[in-house]
Amino acid sequence: MNNAIFNFEDPKNEVVLNYKPESNERFNLIKELEKQSKQQIEIPLIIGGKEIRTGKTGKVVMPHDHKHVLATYHLATEKEVKLAIDEAMKALKIWSNLSWVVRSSILVKAAELISIRYRCMLNAATMLGQSKNVYQAEIDSACETIDFLRYNSYFASKIYSDQPKSGFNQLNRMEYRALEGFVFAVSPFNFTAIASNLNMAPVLMGNTTLWKPATTSILSNYYLMKIFQEAGLPDGVINFVPGNGSLIGEIALKDKNLGGIHFTGSNRTFNSLWKSISENLENYKSYPRIVGETGGKDFVFVHPSAKPLEVAVGIIRGAFEYQGQKCSAASRGYIPKSLWTEIKKLLIEMCSEIKMGDVRVFSNFMNAVINEAAFDSIMEYIEETKHSNVAKIITGGKGNKSKGYFIEPTIIETTDPYYKTMQEEVFGPVMTIFVYDDIELDKTLELCDTTSPYGLTGAIFSSDRIAAAHACEKLRYAAGNFYINDKPTGAMVGFQPFGGARGSGTNDKAGGELNLFRWTSPRTIKETFAPATDYKYPFMLD
Ligand code: NAD
Repeated sequence: MNNAIFNFEDPKNEVVLNYKPESNERFNLIKELEKQSKQQIEIPLIIGGKEIRTGKTGKVVMPHDHKHVLATYHLATEKEVKLAIDEAMKALKIWSNLSWVVRSSILVKAAELISIRYRCMLNAATMLGQSKNVYQAEIDSACETIDFLRYNSYFASKIYSDQPKSGFNQLNRMEYRALEGFVFAVSPFNFTAIASNLNMAPVLMGNTTLWKPATTSILSNYYLMKIFQEAGLPDGVINFVPGNGSLIGEIALKDKNLGGIHFTGSNRTFNSLWKSISENLENYKSYPRIVGETGGKDFVFVHPSAKPLEVAVGIIRGAFEYQGQKCSAASRGYIPKSLWTEIKKLLIEMCSEIKMGDVRVFSNFMNAVINEAAFDSIMEYIEETKHSNVAKIITGGKGNKSKGYFIEPTIIETTDPYYKTMQEEVFGPVMTIFVYDDIELDKTLELCDTTSPYGLTGAIFSSDRIAAAHACEKLRYAAGNFYINDKPTGAMVGFQPFGGARGSGTNDKAGGELNLFRWTSPRTIKETFAPATDYKYPFMLD
Protein backbone atom coordinates (compact mmCIF):
# COMPACT_ATOMS: atom_id res chain seq x y z
CA MET A 1 0.00 0.00 0.00
CA ASN A 2 1.30 3.44 -0.94
CA ASN A 3 0.64 5.67 2.03
CA ALA A 4 1.41 9.02 0.39
CA ILE A 5 -1.25 11.73 0.43
CA PHE A 6 -1.91 12.80 -3.14
CA ASN A 7 -3.12 16.13 -4.40
CA PHE A 8 -4.62 16.99 -7.75
CA GLU A 9 -3.84 20.63 -8.50
CA ASP A 10 -6.55 23.18 -9.32
CA PRO A 11 -6.60 22.62 -13.10
CA LYS A 12 -6.62 25.06 -16.00
CA ASN A 13 -9.58 24.93 -18.38
CA GLU A 14 -8.87 23.42 -21.77
CA VAL A 15 -8.06 26.14 -24.30
CA VAL A 16 -10.80 26.53 -26.95
CA LEU A 17 -9.23 26.18 -30.40
CA ASN A 18 -10.49 28.69 -32.97
CA TYR A 19 -10.41 26.67 -36.24
CA LYS A 20 -9.44 29.68 -38.33
CA PRO A 21 -8.91 29.06 -42.05
CA GLU A 22 -5.42 27.57 -42.66
CA SER A 23 -5.08 26.43 -39.02
CA ASN A 24 -3.83 22.92 -38.30
CA GLU A 25 -6.87 22.09 -36.20
CA ARG A 26 -9.20 23.04 -39.06
CA PHE A 27 -7.23 20.96 -41.57
CA ASN A 28 -7.31 17.89 -39.30
CA LEU A 29 -10.98 18.30 -38.44
CA ILE A 30 -12.00 18.55 -42.11
CA LYS A 31 -10.12 15.30 -42.82
CA GLU A 32 -11.95 13.59 -39.94
CA LEU A 33 -15.34 14.97 -41.03
CA GLU A 34 -14.72 13.55 -44.51
CA LYS A 35 -13.73 10.19 -43.07
CA GLN A 36 -16.74 9.89 -40.75
CA SER A 37 -19.10 11.11 -43.50
CA LYS A 38 -17.92 8.34 -45.83
CA GLN A 39 -18.18 5.43 -43.42
CA GLN A 40 -21.07 3.65 -41.75
CA ILE A 41 -19.96 2.11 -38.48
CA GLU A 42 -21.70 -0.51 -36.39
CA ILE A 43 -22.24 0.38 -32.71
CA PRO A 44 -22.58 -2.52 -30.28
CA LEU A 45 -23.62 -2.45 -26.64
CA ILE A 46 -20.60 -2.64 -24.31
CA ILE A 47 -21.39 -4.61 -21.17
CA GLY A 48 -18.75 -5.93 -18.77
CA GLY A 49 -16.20 -4.76 -21.32
CA LYS A 50 -17.62 -7.01 -24.05
CA GLU A 51 -19.25 -5.90 -27.27
CA ILE A 52 -22.75 -7.28 -27.69
CA ARG A 53 -24.79 -7.26 -30.91
CA THR A 54 -28.47 -8.00 -30.38
CA GLY A 55 -29.53 -7.81 -34.03
CA LYS A 56 -32.28 -5.36 -33.10
CA THR A 57 -30.95 -2.19 -34.67
CA GLY A 58 -31.56 1.50 -35.29
CA LYS A 59 -29.86 4.08 -37.51
CA VAL A 60 -27.81 7.18 -36.68
CA VAL A 61 -28.37 9.91 -39.29
CA MET A 62 -27.17 13.48 -39.80
CA PRO A 63 -29.96 15.82 -38.63
CA HIS A 64 -28.91 18.32 -41.36
CA ASP A 65 -29.01 15.61 -44.06
CA HIS A 66 -31.31 12.96 -42.68
CA LYS A 67 -30.94 10.46 -45.51
CA HIS A 68 -27.23 10.21 -44.73
CA VAL A 69 -26.65 7.25 -42.39
CA LEU A 70 -23.58 7.47 -40.14
CA ALA A 71 -24.01 4.29 -38.14
CA THR A 72 -26.18 1.37 -37.20
CA TYR A 73 -26.56 0.74 -33.48
CA HIS A 74 -27.77 -2.27 -31.56
CA LEU A 75 -30.60 -1.93 -29.06
CA ALA A 76 -30.73 -3.67 -25.70
CA THR A 77 -33.43 -6.18 -24.83
CA GLU A 78 -34.43 -7.14 -21.29
CA LYS A 79 -31.63 -9.73 -21.16
CA GLU A 80 -28.84 -7.19 -21.80
CA VAL A 81 -30.21 -4.69 -19.28
CA LYS A 82 -30.16 -7.37 -16.58
CA LEU A 83 -26.69 -8.44 -17.63
CA ALA A 84 -25.49 -4.82 -17.42
CA ILE A 85 -26.80 -4.54 -13.85
CA ASP A 86 -25.05 -7.80 -12.89
CA GLU A 87 -21.78 -6.62 -14.43
CA ALA A 88 -22.05 -3.22 -12.73
CA MET A 89 -22.62 -4.91 -9.35
CA LYS A 90 -19.70 -7.29 -9.93
CA ALA A 91 -17.34 -4.45 -10.91
CA LEU A 92 -18.46 -2.35 -7.92
CA LYS A 93 -16.72 -4.72 -5.48
CA ILE A 94 -13.30 -4.07 -6.99
CA TRP A 95 -13.74 -0.53 -8.26
CA SER A 96 -15.09 0.92 -5.01
CA ASN A 97 -12.15 -0.55 -3.09
CA LEU A 98 -9.53 0.75 -5.48
CA SER A 99 -7.52 3.78 -4.37
CA TRP A 100 -9.27 6.97 -5.48
CA VAL A 101 -5.97 8.13 -6.93
CA VAL A 102 -6.00 5.24 -9.39
CA ARG A 103 -9.60 6.09 -10.30
CA SER A 104 -8.69 9.74 -10.76
CA SER A 105 -5.71 8.88 -12.94
CA ILE A 106 -8.04 7.06 -15.33
CA LEU A 107 -10.23 10.18 -15.61
CA VAL A 108 -7.25 12.44 -16.14
CA LYS A 109 -5.85 10.05 -18.73
CA ALA A 110 -9.19 10.13 -20.59
CA ALA A 111 -9.00 13.95 -20.55
CA GLU A 112 -5.48 13.90 -22.01
CA LEU A 113 -6.44 11.34 -24.66
CA ILE A 114 -9.27 13.62 -25.81
CA SER A 115 -7.06 16.70 -25.71
CA ILE A 116 -4.14 15.15 -27.56
CA ARG A 117 -5.41 12.28 -29.70
CA TYR A 118 -9.17 12.12 -30.07
CA ARG A 119 -10.30 15.74 -30.16
CA CYS A 120 -11.08 15.64 -33.90
CA MET A 121 -12.84 12.29 -33.66
CA LEU A 122 -15.17 13.41 -30.85
CA ASN A 123 -15.79 16.85 -32.36
CA ALA A 124 -16.56 15.43 -35.81
CA ALA A 125 -18.95 12.83 -34.36
CA THR A 126 -20.73 15.54 -32.32
CA MET A 127 -20.93 17.82 -35.37
CA LEU A 128 -22.27 15.17 -37.72
CA GLY A 129 -24.46 13.20 -35.33
CA GLN A 130 -25.88 16.04 -33.22
CA SER A 131 -25.68 18.84 -35.84
CA LYS A 132 -23.39 21.23 -33.96
CA ASN A 133 -21.18 23.76 -35.70
CA VAL A 134 -17.46 23.49 -35.06
CA TYR A 135 -17.40 26.03 -32.23
CA GLN A 136 -20.37 24.46 -30.44
CA ALA A 137 -18.74 21.03 -30.75
CA GLU A 138 -15.33 22.29 -29.57
CA ILE A 139 -16.73 23.91 -26.40
CA ASP A 140 -18.79 20.81 -25.65
CA SER A 141 -17.27 17.52 -26.73
CA ALA A 142 -13.65 18.64 -26.43
CA CYS A 143 -13.32 21.38 -23.81
CA GLU A 144 -16.19 20.77 -21.40
CA THR A 145 -15.67 17.01 -21.40
CA ILE A 146 -11.98 17.53 -20.58
CA ASP A 147 -12.77 20.16 -17.93
CA PHE A 148 -15.27 17.89 -16.16
CA LEU A 149 -12.72 15.07 -16.04
CA ARG A 150 -9.83 17.22 -14.78
CA TYR A 151 -11.78 19.36 -12.32
CA ASN A 152 -13.62 16.46 -10.75
CA SER A 153 -10.33 14.80 -9.83
CA TYR A 154 -9.31 18.02 -8.10
CA PHE A 155 -12.70 18.34 -6.33
CA ALA A 156 -12.51 14.72 -5.21
CA SER A 157 -9.10 15.33 -3.66
CA LYS A 158 -10.64 18.19 -1.65
CA ILE A 159 -13.57 16.03 -0.52
CA TYR A 160 -11.40 13.09 0.54
CA SER A 161 -9.07 15.34 2.50
CA ASP A 162 -11.94 16.89 4.44
CA GLN A 163 -11.83 15.06 7.78
CA PRO A 164 -13.57 15.57 11.12
CA LYS A 165 -11.76 16.76 14.25
CA SER A 166 -10.19 14.33 16.67
CA GLY A 167 -9.84 15.17 20.34
CA PHE A 168 -8.83 13.93 23.75
CA ASN A 169 -8.89 10.13 23.91
CA GLN A 170 -10.41 9.73 20.45
CA LEU A 171 -9.49 9.55 16.79
CA ASN A 172 -12.16 10.33 14.18
CA ARG A 173 -12.17 9.91 10.47
CA MET A 174 -14.57 9.99 7.59
CA GLU A 175 -14.59 7.30 4.99
CA TYR A 176 -16.25 8.37 1.72
CA ARG A 177 -17.81 5.10 0.61
CA ALA A 178 -19.34 4.54 -2.81
CA LEU A 179 -23.10 3.93 -2.85
CA GLU A 180 -24.16 0.35 -2.18
CA GLY A 181 -25.63 -0.21 -5.63
CA PHE A 182 -25.28 0.74 -9.29
CA VAL A 183 -25.99 4.22 -10.68
CA PHE A 184 -28.41 4.53 -13.58
CA ALA A 185 -26.92 7.27 -15.81
CA VAL A 186 -29.44 8.61 -18.32
CA SER A 187 -28.07 11.17 -20.76
CA PRO A 188 -29.66 13.70 -23.15
CA PHE A 189 -28.81 14.28 -26.81
CA ASN A 190 -27.59 17.83 -26.61
CA PHE A 191 -24.22 17.71 -24.80
CA THR A 192 -21.52 15.08 -25.25
CA ALA A 193 -19.82 16.49 -22.13
CA ILE A 194 -22.92 15.88 -20.02
CA ALA A 195 -23.10 12.26 -21.18
CA SER A 196 -19.50 11.83 -20.06
CA ASN A 197 -20.02 13.52 -16.70
CA LEU A 198 -23.25 11.69 -15.82
CA ASN A 199 -21.13 8.55 -15.74
CA MET A 200 -17.71 9.77 -14.73
CA ALA A 201 -18.79 11.84 -11.68
CA PRO A 202 -20.27 8.81 -9.85
CA VAL A 203 -17.53 6.54 -11.22
CA LEU A 204 -14.81 8.78 -9.77
CA MET A 205 -16.39 8.40 -6.32
CA GLY A 206 -16.17 4.60 -6.62
CA ASN A 207 -19.54 3.77 -8.21
CA THR A 208 -20.36 1.80 -11.34
CA THR A 209 -23.00 2.71 -13.91
CA LEU A 210 -25.60 1.43 -16.31
CA TRP A 211 -25.49 4.09 -19.03
CA LYS A 212 -28.54 4.73 -21.18
CA PRO A 213 -27.44 7.22 -23.87
CA ALA A 214 -29.94 9.21 -25.96
CA THR A 215 -30.44 7.50 -29.31
CA THR A 216 -29.72 10.77 -31.14
CA SER A 217 -26.22 11.16 -29.68
CA ILE A 218 -25.06 7.57 -29.85
CA LEU A 219 -22.21 8.18 -32.29
CA SER A 220 -20.24 10.61 -30.09
CA ASN A 221 -21.25 8.70 -26.95
CA TYR A 222 -19.90 5.42 -28.35
CA TYR A 223 -16.54 7.07 -29.10
CA LEU A 224 -16.51 8.41 -25.54
CA MET A 225 -16.99 4.89 -24.21
CA LYS A 226 -14.09 3.62 -26.34
CA ILE A 227 -11.86 6.42 -25.00
CA PHE A 228 -12.79 5.55 -21.39
CA GLN A 229 -11.80 1.95 -22.10
CA GLU A 230 -8.49 3.01 -23.62
CA ALA A 231 -7.85 5.20 -20.58
CA GLY A 232 -7.94 2.03 -18.49
CA LEU A 233 -11.49 1.92 -17.17
CA PRO A 234 -11.97 -1.67 -15.97
CA ASP A 235 -14.68 -3.86 -17.49
CA GLY A 236 -18.15 -3.38 -16.04
CA VAL A 237 -17.49 0.01 -14.42
CA ILE A 238 -19.53 1.75 -17.14
CA ASN A 239 -21.94 -0.38 -19.14
CA PHE A 240 -23.01 1.26 -22.40
CA VAL A 241 -26.59 0.24 -23.10
CA PRO A 242 -28.40 2.01 -25.96
CA GLY A 243 -32.04 1.16 -26.42
CA ASN A 244 -35.58 2.07 -25.61
CA GLY A 245 -35.74 4.38 -22.55
CA SER A 246 -38.88 3.00 -21.00
CA LEU A 247 -37.79 -0.63 -21.39
CA ILE A 248 -34.37 0.00 -19.84
CA GLY A 249 -35.81 2.35 -17.21
CA GLU A 250 -38.44 -0.12 -16.08
CA ILE A 251 -35.90 -2.87 -15.39
CA ALA A 252 -33.26 -0.60 -13.84
CA LEU A 253 -35.66 1.21 -11.53
CA LYS A 254 -37.20 -1.99 -10.21
CA ASP A 255 -33.86 -3.50 -9.28
CA LYS A 256 -33.19 -3.75 -5.55
CA ASN A 257 -29.58 -2.70 -6.13
CA LEU A 258 -30.41 0.69 -7.62
CA GLY A 259 -28.05 3.08 -5.83
CA GLY A 260 -29.08 6.25 -7.63
CA ILE A 261 -29.98 7.91 -10.87
CA HIS A 262 -27.91 10.60 -12.53
CA PHE A 263 -30.18 12.15 -15.10
CA THR A 264 -30.19 15.06 -17.51
CA GLY A 265 -33.10 15.52 -19.87
CA SER A 266 -36.63 16.75 -19.92
CA ASN A 267 -38.78 17.53 -16.96
CA ARG A 268 -41.39 15.01 -18.15
CA THR A 269 -38.95 12.10 -18.26
CA PHE A 270 -37.41 13.00 -14.89
CA ASN A 271 -40.84 13.15 -13.23
CA SER A 272 -41.70 9.72 -14.58
CA LEU A 273 -38.41 8.26 -13.29
CA TRP A 274 -38.95 9.80 -9.85
CA LYS A 275 -42.49 8.38 -9.72
CA SER A 276 -41.23 4.88 -10.59
CA ILE A 277 -38.63 5.13 -7.83
CA SER A 278 -41.25 6.09 -5.28
CA GLU A 279 -43.44 3.19 -6.40
CA ASN A 280 -40.55 0.78 -5.87
CA LEU A 281 -39.29 2.20 -2.57
CA GLU A 282 -40.00 -0.93 -0.55
CA ASN A 283 -37.81 -3.01 -2.86
CA TYR A 284 -34.56 -1.11 -2.52
CA LYS A 285 -31.62 -1.93 -0.30
CA SER A 286 -30.95 1.81 0.25
CA TYR A 287 -32.81 4.99 -0.64
CA PRO A 288 -31.59 5.76 -4.17
CA ARG A 289 -29.90 9.11 -4.71
CA ILE A 290 -31.93 11.09 -7.22
CA VAL A 291 -29.94 13.69 -9.10
CA GLY A 292 -31.52 15.30 -12.14
CA GLU A 293 -31.08 18.41 -14.23
CA THR A 294 -34.02 19.12 -16.48
CA GLY A 295 -35.49 21.87 -18.64
CA GLY A 296 -35.55 25.63 -18.49
CA LYS A 297 -37.52 28.67 -19.57
CA ASP A 298 -34.54 30.93 -19.44
CA PHE A 299 -34.99 34.68 -19.50
CA VAL A 300 -33.28 37.90 -20.52
CA PHE A 301 -34.53 40.82 -18.46
CA VAL A 302 -33.63 44.24 -19.79
CA HIS A 303 -33.46 47.34 -17.61
CA PRO A 304 -34.08 50.74 -19.28
CA SER A 305 -30.40 51.61 -18.65
CA ALA A 306 -29.14 48.67 -20.75
CA LYS A 307 -27.15 49.08 -23.96
CA PRO A 308 -29.27 47.90 -26.91
CA LEU A 309 -26.41 46.36 -28.91
CA GLU A 310 -25.22 44.29 -25.94
CA VAL A 311 -28.79 43.10 -25.36
CA ALA A 312 -29.32 42.14 -29.01
CA VAL A 313 -26.05 40.17 -29.19
CA GLY A 314 -26.88 38.45 -25.88
CA ILE A 315 -30.28 37.42 -27.23
CA ILE A 316 -29.01 36.20 -30.61
CA ARG A 317 -26.22 34.11 -29.10
CA GLY A 318 -28.25 33.04 -26.06
CA ALA A 319 -31.34 32.02 -28.01
CA PHE A 320 -30.05 30.67 -31.31
CA GLU A 321 -26.67 29.02 -30.77
CA TYR A 322 -27.09 25.28 -31.24
CA GLN A 323 -30.59 26.08 -32.56
CA GLY A 324 -31.80 26.94 -29.05
CA GLN A 325 -31.36 23.31 -27.96
CA LYS A 326 -29.56 24.13 -24.73
CA CYS A 327 -31.30 23.79 -21.41
CA SER A 328 -29.91 27.28 -20.71
CA ALA A 329 -31.01 28.85 -24.02
CA ALA A 330 -32.69 32.25 -23.73
CA SER A 331 -36.32 31.80 -24.70
CA ARG A 332 -38.22 34.70 -23.14
CA GLY A 333 -37.33 38.36 -22.89
CA TYR A 334 -38.70 41.36 -20.97
CA ILE A 335 -37.79 44.59 -22.75
CA PRO A 336 -38.78 48.14 -21.76
CA LYS A 337 -40.83 50.15 -24.26
CA SER A 338 -38.17 52.88 -24.32
CA LEU A 339 -35.57 50.46 -25.80
CA TRP A 340 -37.75 48.14 -27.86
CA THR A 341 -37.67 49.97 -31.22
CA GLU A 342 -33.89 49.99 -31.29
CA ILE A 343 -33.42 46.45 -29.97
CA LYS A 344 -36.05 45.10 -32.35
CA LYS A 345 -34.29 46.67 -35.33
CA LEU A 346 -30.95 45.15 -34.29
CA LEU A 347 -32.49 41.72 -33.72
CA ILE A 348 -34.18 41.68 -37.13
CA GLU A 349 -30.98 42.81 -38.85
CA MET A 350 -28.86 40.18 -37.10
CA CYS A 351 -31.36 37.38 -37.80
CA SER A 352 -31.39 38.29 -41.48
CA GLU A 353 -27.61 37.77 -41.61
CA ILE A 354 -27.57 34.40 -39.88
CA LYS A 355 -26.53 31.54 -42.14
CA MET A 356 -27.97 28.10 -41.56
CA GLY A 357 -27.12 24.73 -43.08
CA ASP A 358 -24.71 21.78 -43.01
CA VAL A 359 -22.13 21.66 -40.20
CA ARG A 360 -19.38 21.04 -42.75
CA VAL A 361 -19.86 24.58 -44.11
CA PHE A 362 -18.01 26.54 -41.43
CA SER A 363 -19.71 29.88 -42.10
CA ASN A 364 -23.05 28.52 -40.86
CA PHE A 365 -23.99 29.90 -37.44
CA MET A 366 -26.98 27.56 -37.18
CA ASN A 367 -27.57 23.97 -38.21
CA ALA A 368 -30.49 21.55 -37.91
CA VAL A 369 -32.65 20.62 -34.92
CA ILE A 370 -32.09 17.10 -33.70
CA ASN A 371 -34.86 15.06 -35.35
CA GLU A 372 -38.30 15.06 -36.94
CA ALA A 373 -40.19 14.89 -33.64
CA ALA A 374 -38.35 18.00 -32.40
CA PHE A 375 -38.92 19.77 -35.72
CA ASP A 376 -42.66 19.06 -35.64
CA SER A 377 -43.06 20.07 -32.02
CA ILE A 378 -41.20 23.41 -32.50
CA MET A 379 -43.11 24.18 -35.70
CA GLU A 380 -46.39 23.58 -33.89
CA TYR A 381 -45.61 26.48 -31.53
CA ILE A 382 -44.69 28.66 -34.51
CA GLU A 383 -47.80 27.77 -36.52
CA GLU A 384 -50.06 28.42 -33.55
CA THR A 385 -48.52 31.88 -33.16
CA LYS A 386 -49.36 32.69 -36.80
CA HIS A 387 -53.04 32.51 -35.80
CA SER A 388 -52.78 34.25 -32.42
CA ASN A 389 -54.43 37.55 -31.44
CA VAL A 390 -51.90 38.26 -28.71
CA ALA A 391 -48.64 37.24 -30.37
CA LYS A 392 -46.96 37.81 -33.73
CA ILE A 393 -43.78 36.65 -35.42
CA ILE A 394 -41.45 39.58 -36.06
CA THR A 395 -38.72 37.59 -37.80
CA GLY A 396 -38.28 33.97 -38.96
CA GLY A 397 -41.13 31.51 -38.68
CA LYS A 398 -40.29 29.13 -41.53
CA GLY A 399 -39.12 25.56 -41.34
CA ASN A 400 -38.09 23.00 -43.92
CA LYS A 401 -37.51 19.31 -43.23
CA SER A 402 -37.03 18.03 -46.78
CA LYS A 403 -33.25 17.51 -46.48
CA GLY A 404 -32.47 18.38 -42.88
CA TYR A 405 -34.53 19.64 -39.95
CA PHE A 406 -34.02 23.37 -40.42
CA ILE A 407 -35.97 26.07 -38.59
CA GLU A 408 -35.27 29.78 -39.02
CA PRO A 409 -34.29 31.82 -35.95
CA THR A 410 -37.70 33.01 -34.88
CA ILE A 411 -38.68 35.94 -32.66
CA ILE A 412 -42.21 36.32 -31.35
CA GLU A 413 -43.55 39.51 -29.80
CA THR A 414 -46.47 39.06 -27.43
CA THR A 415 -48.75 41.37 -25.48
CA ASP A 416 -49.67 38.51 -23.15
CA PRO A 417 -46.91 37.83 -20.57
CA TYR A 418 -48.46 34.39 -20.02
CA TYR A 419 -48.48 33.45 -23.70
CA LYS A 420 -47.68 29.75 -24.19
CA THR A 421 -44.12 30.40 -25.44
CA MET A 422 -43.44 32.62 -22.40
CA GLN A 423 -44.14 29.62 -20.15
CA GLU A 424 -43.30 26.34 -21.89
CA GLU A 425 -39.90 25.03 -22.93
CA VAL A 426 -39.89 24.99 -26.76
CA PHE A 427 -36.31 23.67 -27.05
CA GLY A 428 -35.69 25.21 -30.45
CA PRO A 429 -34.72 28.53 -32.06
CA VAL A 430 -37.72 30.48 -30.80
CA MET A 431 -37.44 33.59 -28.60
CA THR A 432 -40.52 35.38 -27.26
CA ILE A 433 -40.46 39.03 -26.16
CA PHE A 434 -42.86 40.80 -23.84
CA VAL A 435 -42.52 44.58 -24.01
CA TYR A 436 -43.18 46.25 -20.65
CA ASP A 437 -43.95 49.80 -19.65
CA ASP A 438 -40.77 51.35 -18.16
CA ILE A 439 -42.65 52.42 -15.03
CA GLU A 440 -43.78 48.85 -14.37
CA LEU A 441 -40.34 47.48 -13.64
CA ASP A 442 -41.12 45.82 -10.31
CA LYS A 443 -44.37 44.32 -11.56
CA THR A 444 -42.48 42.90 -14.54
CA LEU A 445 -39.76 41.43 -12.33
CA GLU A 446 -42.53 39.72 -10.40
CA LEU A 447 -43.99 38.39 -13.68
CA CYS A 448 -40.59 37.08 -14.73
CA ASP A 449 -40.23 35.28 -11.40
CA THR A 450 -43.65 33.64 -11.44
CA THR A 451 -44.52 32.92 -15.08
CA SER A 452 -42.79 29.59 -15.69
CA PRO A 453 -42.34 26.49 -13.51
CA TYR A 454 -38.59 26.40 -14.20
CA GLY A 455 -35.63 28.00 -12.43
CA LEU A 456 -32.53 27.27 -14.51
CA THR A 457 -30.84 30.34 -16.02
CA GLY A 458 -31.58 34.02 -16.50
CA ALA A 459 -29.87 37.31 -17.24
CA ILE A 460 -30.29 40.96 -16.41
CA PHE A 461 -28.88 43.61 -18.75
CA SER A 462 -28.42 46.95 -17.01
CA SER A 463 -25.87 49.77 -16.87
CA ASP A 464 -27.31 50.81 -13.54
CA ARG A 465 -25.51 48.67 -10.96
CA ILE A 466 -28.13 49.28 -8.25
CA ALA A 467 -30.92 48.22 -10.59
CA ALA A 468 -28.95 45.07 -11.45
CA ALA A 469 -28.54 44.25 -7.75
CA HIS A 470 -32.25 44.83 -7.19
CA ALA A 471 -33.17 42.43 -10.03
CA CYS A 472 -30.66 39.90 -8.72
CA GLU A 473 -32.44 39.99 -5.37
CA LYS A 474 -35.99 39.91 -6.78
CA LEU A 475 -35.15 36.99 -9.07
CA ARG A 476 -33.28 35.05 -6.41
CA TYR A 477 -35.08 31.75 -7.02
CA ALA A 478 -35.88 32.31 -10.70
CA ALA A 479 -32.51 30.94 -11.81
CA GLY A 480 -29.77 28.67 -10.43
CA ASN A 481 -27.33 30.36 -12.83
CA PHE A 482 -27.85 34.12 -13.00
CA TYR A 483 -25.95 36.44 -15.32
CA ILE A 484 -25.41 40.18 -15.13
CA ASN A 485 -24.80 41.73 -18.55
CA ASP A 486 -24.21 38.41 -20.28
CA LYS A 487 -26.21 35.80 -22.17
CA PRO A 488 -27.68 33.06 -19.96
CA THR A 489 -25.74 30.22 -21.67
CA GLY A 490 -22.14 29.05 -21.68
CA ALA A 491 -21.41 28.04 -18.07
CA MET A 492 -17.81 26.89 -17.68
CA VAL A 493 -16.68 24.09 -15.39
CA GLY A 494 -14.76 25.50 -12.44
CA PHE A 495 -16.13 29.00 -13.06
CA GLN A 496 -19.94 28.73 -13.03
CA PRO A 497 -21.10 25.42 -11.47
CA PHE A 498 -24.33 24.62 -13.27
CA GLY A 499 -27.90 23.71 -12.32
CA GLY A 500 -31.29 25.03 -11.33
CA ALA A 501 -34.09 24.32 -8.89
CA ARG A 502 -37.89 24.53 -9.09
CA GLY A 503 -38.94 22.49 -12.17
CA SER A 504 -35.38 22.52 -13.50
CA GLY A 505 -34.01 19.80 -11.27
CA THR A 506 -32.32 19.01 -8.01
CA ASN A 507 -29.69 21.76 -8.46
CA ASP A 508 -26.75 19.54 -7.59
CA LYS A 509 -24.40 21.69 -9.67
CA ALA A 510 -22.65 19.59 -12.28
CA GLY A 511 -18.94 20.23 -12.39
CA GLY A 512 -18.54 20.97 -8.70
CA GLU A 513 -17.98 19.35 -5.34
CA LEU A 514 -21.70 19.48 -4.54
CA ASN A 515 -22.45 16.98 -7.28
CA LEU A 516 -19.66 14.61 -6.22
CA PHE A 517 -20.94 14.55 -2.63
CA ARG A 518 -24.16 12.96 -3.93
CA TRP A 519 -22.22 9.89 -5.05
CA THR A 520 -20.74 9.07 -1.68
CA SER A 521 -22.23 7.46 1.38
CA PRO A 522 -19.89 8.60 4.14
CA ARG A 523 -19.04 6.48 7.16
CA THR A 524 -17.77 8.16 10.33
CA ILE A 525 -15.33 6.08 12.34
CA LYS A 526 -14.54 6.92 15.96
CA GLU A 527 -11.82 5.12 17.85
CA THR A 528 -11.57 5.50 21.62
CA PHE A 529 -8.09 4.90 23.05
CA ALA A 530 -8.85 4.25 26.71
CA PRO A 531 -12.49 3.06 26.92
CA ALA A 532 -14.51 3.76 30.11
CA THR A 533 -14.23 1.20 32.88
CA ASP A 534 -17.09 2.39 35.10
CA TYR A 535 -20.67 2.89 33.90
CA LYS A 536 -21.41 5.52 36.61
CA TYR A 537 -21.11 9.26 35.84
CA PRO A 538 -19.82 11.87 38.34
CA PHE A 539 -23.32 13.41 38.76
CA MET A 540 -24.46 10.14 40.29
CA LEU A 541 -22.15 10.52 43.32
CA ASP A 542 -23.92 11.29 46.66
P1 NAD B 1 -35.45 13.44 -22.87
O1 NAD B 1 -36.07 13.59 -21.53
O2 NAD B 1 -36.34 13.19 -24.01
O3 NAD B 1 -34.41 12.24 -22.83
C1 NAD B 1 -33.35 12.17 -21.91
C2 NAD B 1 -32.92 10.73 -21.78
O4 NAD B 1 -33.94 10.01 -21.09
C3 NAD B 1 -32.72 10.01 -23.11
O5 NAD B 1 -31.60 9.16 -23.01
C4 NAD B 1 -33.99 9.21 -23.24
O6 NAD B 1 -33.87 8.08 -24.07
C5 NAD B 1 -34.21 8.80 -21.79
N1 NAD B 1 -35.55 8.34 -21.45
C6 NAD B 1 -36.75 8.74 -21.94
N2 NAD B 1 -37.75 8.08 -21.32
C7 NAD B 1 -37.19 7.26 -20.42
C8 NAD B 1 -37.68 6.33 -19.45
N3 NAD B 1 -38.97 6.13 -19.30
N4 NAD B 1 -36.80 5.66 -18.69
C9 NAD B 1 -35.46 5.88 -18.83
N5 NAD B 1 -34.94 6.75 -19.70
C10 NAD B 1 -35.78 7.43 -20.49
O7 NAD B 1 -34.52 14.73 -23.13
P2 NAD B 1 -33.66 15.09 -24.43
O8 NAD B 1 -34.60 15.46 -25.52
O9 NAD B 1 -32.60 14.08 -24.71
O10 NAD B 1 -32.91 16.39 -23.91
C11 NAD B 1 -33.49 17.64 -23.91
C12 NAD B 1 -33.96 18.03 -22.53
O11 NAD B 1 -32.86 17.98 -21.64
C13 NAD B 1 -34.46 19.47 -22.47
O12 NAD B 1 -35.61 19.53 -21.67
C14 NAD B 1 -33.30 20.21 -21.82
O13 NAD B 1 -33.66 21.40 -21.17
C15 NAD B 1 -32.78 19.17 -20.88
N6 NAD B 1 -31.39 19.43 -20.51
C16 NAD B 1 -31.14 19.92 -19.25
C17 NAD B 1 -29.84 20.23 -18.88
C18 NAD B 1 -29.54 20.78 -17.50
O14 NAD B 1 -28.39 20.76 -17.09
N7 NAD B 1 -30.53 21.27 -16.78
C19 NAD B 1 -28.79 20.03 -19.78
C20 NAD B 1 -29.08 19.51 -21.03
C21 NAD B 1 -30.38 19.21 -21.38
